[in-house]
Amino acid sequence: MKCATFHFHGELNFFLPRRHKHNPIEHPFDWRGSIKDMIESLGVPHAEIEWLVVNGVSVDFDYIMQDQDVVDVYAFPDEIDIEPKVALRPPFPGRPRFVLDTHLGRLAAYLRMMGFDTLYRNDYPDEELAEVSHNERRILLTRDTGLLKRSIVTYGYYVRNMNPQERLAEIVERFGLAAHVEPFKHCMKCNGLLHPVEKHAVVEQLPRNTAAHYDIFHQCSSCERVYWKGPHFEKMESLMNSVLNGHNHDE
Ligand SMILES: [Zn+2]
Repeated sequence: MKCATFHFHGELNFFLPRRHKHNPIEHPFDWRGSIKDMIESLGVPHAEIEWLVVNGVSVDFDYIMQDQDVVDVYAFPDEIDIEPKVALRPPFPGRPRFVLDTHLGRLAAYLRMMGFDTLYRNDYPDEELAEVSHNERRILLTRDTGLLKRSIVTYGYYVRNMNPQERLAEIVERFGLAAHVEPFKHCMKCNGLLHPVEKHAVVEQLPRNTAAHYDIFHQCSSCERVYWKGPHFEKMESLMNSVLNGHNHDE
């Protein structure tokens, strides 16, 4: 029987059973396996891994495990002081875009509110979530580690918090969203693009008194829902500010 030692750093301990958290794991094996498969068999999904180091050398997911290997596994935002460094995936191209697992509806609405292109349906099958993430290069947010172990998922993240507002703060922090916020860009309901619209064009759709009190309106190009800076927006804006200020405070 061969044996390797794994050290999981930082955020990755979240995925380990209690007895393994923050402890070296001695892992016996008698099969020829990649480092990726072996790590996932210990419970940590590849999508959460930022750097892999074997015996002091940076490697990628295809590395074949050898007897007596000592493995260090790091999550974002940990850095390694090793050259050369082997990146496990290309940096995410451009503005972050998301696809969300079925139970993250509130988070989807919040991300859209802040201007992020976010796909969400309450009936997405796992396979389709993984495919959409892969084909459209979207960051998959989920509460399902199995989904993050699917090999076609390149950009993925397990949402830790349970409360929707804390989840929003968590994602803003993790993906550096504060610099990209753009309210009134995406429809909170359907993710369609919003455009400015004249009051007279939408007055029929507005609740009583709204037309009298507001002059600036945006409309969704897909579902035609109308948005304005009323009390509902003010509530959203204060949530957005508290999330962003919390973020700035940490820096
Ligand atoms: Zn819409």
